[in-house]
Amino acid sequence: MKSKTKIIATLGPATASVKGIKELIDAGADVLRINFSHGTDAFIQQLFDTVNELRIDYPYIAILADLEGPKIRVGEFEGGSTNLVEGQTFTLDTGLENSLGNNSSVYLDYKTYAGELAPGDILLLDDGNIKLEVDSTLTTRVHCKVIDGGILSNRKGINKKGGGLSADAIGPKDLINIVVAHENHADYIAVSFVKSHKDVRLVREKLNELKSNIRVISKIERVEALSGIEQIIEISDGIMIARGDLGIEIGYEKLTGLQKQLIKLARSKHKIAITATQMMESMIHNKSPTRAEVSDVANAVMDGTDAVMLSAETAIGSHPKTVVSIVGELCVGAEEYDQIFDPSNIRLNERFDSTEESIAMASIYIASHIDIRAILSLTQTGETVHWMSRQLSKIPIYGLTNNIAALRRMSLFRGVTPLFLDGLNADFNKTENQLDKFLSRTSTLKSGDLVVLTCGDISDQAGGTNQLKIVTIP
Ligand code: PGA
Ligand code: MN
Repeated sequence: MKSKTKIIATLGPATASVKGIKELIDAGADVLRINFSHGTDAFIQQLFDTVNELRIDYPYIAILADLEGPKIRVGEFEGGSTNLVEGQTFTLDTGLENSLGNNSSVYLDYKTYAGELAPGDILLLDDGNIKLEVDSTLTTRVHCKVIDGGILSNRKGINKKGGGLSADAIGPKDLINIVVAHENHADYIAVSFVKSHKDVRLVREKLNELKSNIRVISKIERVEALSGIEQIIEISDGIMIARGDLGIEIGYEKLTGLQKQLIKLARSKHKIAITATQMMESMIHNKSPTRAEVSDVANAVMDGTDAVMLSAETAIGSHPKTVVSIVGELCVGAEEYDQIFDPSNIRLNERFDSTEESIAMASIYIASHIDIRAILSLTQTGETVHWMSRQLSKIPIYGLTNNIAALRRMSLFRGVTPLFLDGLNADFNKTENQLDKFLSRTSTLKSGDLVVLTCGDISDQAGGTNQLKIVTIP
C-alpha cells in the first residue's frame, strides 16, 4: 500500500543511473530532488535528462529543483582536509587562494563576512560538527578560536549561530539555475535561505519572465525568515522545513516545536509543507533506521506534513531503495494511527474564494458523512485537488487529468493519487462512461462502491470545476 504522505528522494552519485532512479520510483518516491548545491553542471544536466527520459514510463513523477542560495562554504585544503583541535586558532580568509587551506587558515566564499561578525560570535561548520568562536576580524580575515575540533574537509558549510547575515537568497548563479530548472521541466523550485518574501517575489518575477508555471517552495532555514514567516508562506506555494541549517541557526532545542508550528501555519494558509533533513540519516550506511528516526518520520506525518524528504540517504547512501520503502511503510503506519484530524466539520464558518475551493470542500464534507470510497476529480490544473488535499482526510483522492504539468504537481499533495488519463473528456455523462478506463488503472474500487465525482463544464479548460456528483460504480 502506498502512503498518503509523499516521499521526496534527492538524487546524487548513488542514484544517478537509470536503474538507480527507477529503483527509487519503484520503491515509492513521488518527487525527485535535483540539488544545485552539489555536482558539476554536466552532472546536474545528466540527472535532469535521465529523469525526463524515465518520465515517459512514470509520467506523474515530479522534479523539485533546489537552488543553492547563499550557502557559505570554506575553500579547499592542500591535503583535502585538516584536523582542528580544541583551543587552537584558525582563520577564515576571503582574501586567500581557494585551494590553499591548511591548519591555520582557509578560504571563505562570502566576501562581506568579516564585516558582519563580532568577537564572541559562534560559527558552526560541517552541520555543527565543528564549533569556532570569533576572536577578532580584520579586513578579509576572521580570526577564531576552535571550541569543538574535528576533521574539516573541502567545501564544508558554515553557519552563524543566531543568524543575522545580510546575503540575499537569490544570487547570479541561482538566477541561471532557475532558467535551467525551467528548461528541464522542473515542477517545483526550492528557494534556499529565504530571508523575506522579497526573495520569493524575485523568483516569481523571474519565472513570469520565462512564462514558467513552476511552483515555488520556500526553504525555511534561517532565523530572519521567522519574523516575516506569514508573508513568506502567503507568497509561496509551500514551505520546506529545512531542519539542517535551521537547527543550527536557531538551536536544536527549538527545532521540534518550530516544525509543528510551521507545518500548522502552512496548512492553515492552504499551502504545502515538506519536512526535510536527516530523517533516516543512519541509513546512509545502515540497513535499518534507529528508533529515533522511526519516530521522526511518524511525527512529521502526524504533524500533517505533505511530504518527507530524503537527502544524503538517497543521494550518496548505500541503501537508497531500501530507505525509500522503509519511509513509505512508516508513513502508512503513522497515517493509520492518526485520528486527530476530523474533516467532517471543516471550515464551517469560513467563506470560500472560488468555485474550485467550494466544490473541493463540499466533496470532503460529503465524503465524510456518507460511505464514499473515493473522490475522483477531473482537473486541468490540479487546483480543486489541491484544495481537497488541504484537509487531512482518510478518503482516497484521485486527480484525473490529461495535463502533464497538473499531473506532476499533484505528486506533492498529501492524500492525492495523480492519474494520467489520455483523451479524458471532462463532461459528466461522458466521465461516467469513462469510469471503466479509470477502474482498469486502480484496484481499490469495485462495483457498487459510491464515489464523488467532480469536474467542470467545459473540458480542457483550466479553472472551471463547478460540478459534483455522487456516482455508484457500475
Ligand atoms: P539543504 O537544505 O539540504 O539544501 O541544506 C535542507 C536543510 O538545510 O535542512
Ligand atoms: Mn539547507
